[in-house]
Amino acid sequence: MLDLHDISREFRVGPSSLRVLDGLSISFSASETVSITGGSGSGKTTFMNIVGLLDKPTSGRYTIDGQDVLKAKSDDLAALRNRLIGFVFQSFFLLPRLSAWRNVALPLAYRRTPEEDARRRAHAMLERVGLGDRAHHLPSELSGGQRQRVAIARALVGDPKIVLADEPTGALDTKVSQEIMDLFKEINRDLGVLVMIITHDPRIAAQCGRRVVLRQGMLVAEENVGAEMDAIALERFGAARLPVQAC
Ligand code: ADP
Ligand code: MG
Repeated sequence: MLDLHDISREFRVGPSSLRVLDGLSISFSASETVSITGGSGSGKTTFMNIVGLLDKPTSGRYTIDGQDVLKAKSDDLAALRNRLIGFVFQSFFLLPRLSAWRNVALPLAYRRTPEEDARRRAHAMLERVGLGDRAHHLPSELSGGQRQRVAIARALVGDPKIVLADEPTGALDTKVSQEIMDLFKEINRDLGVLVMIITHDPRIAAQCGRRVVLRQGMLVAEENVGAEMDAIALERFGAARLPVQAC
């Protein structure tokens, strides 16, 4: 569904240029959970900004469901982003003067969804993340974990195919981090949304079905827990369970 091919991103820094992503090729399908790890400055956020259509690569190809998204004009790109992608950040990025449900409804306002419909959907999404009784609270009246739940509800309210989270548990303690991770897994399982999480926390990464590691803008390792499970199943049950190869 997401297909990135030979993606490079260079930034101009004074007279020279800095190559942050270097010929990265990778595909993602719907309903995966993916962790992105790597040292500080390895290009994780740059990569996620490109996947999330917030930034364009210097070169490379990127298609979503076969559509070449790099050819889209910026207005079309914004509409595509609004429809397809929900974002979650380390520091929540909630608007401080808006109640929880109004924050959740923001992506719908950009789409000009009628107010009553937006209100209903925002409240339903707050219920889903376990905050039905906090809809009228301001962000300052919520705990860190609750704020991140509001941000997750906002990411989901527009019915996206992809949720991108940049260090979503970076500001939370271990227990609350696990609760947020449980919520991401539930979303992935129940809504069939591709969840991609940048994280420094190996306990979070370990819970993703697919683990991608970047170093200096290059993909240095990838583990696919699903594939490992297939291999284990194959060993246990033998080749008899494999489909017969046509020849
Ligand atoms: P990570 O998220 O893995 O810590 P980033 O993707 O944020 O890494 O950054 C990777 C490198 O790219 C860093 O060296 C950073 O300074 C540089 N970089 C990121 N954005 C820009 C920019 N807009 N202009 C110049 N350099 C940038
Ligand atoms: Mg980063």
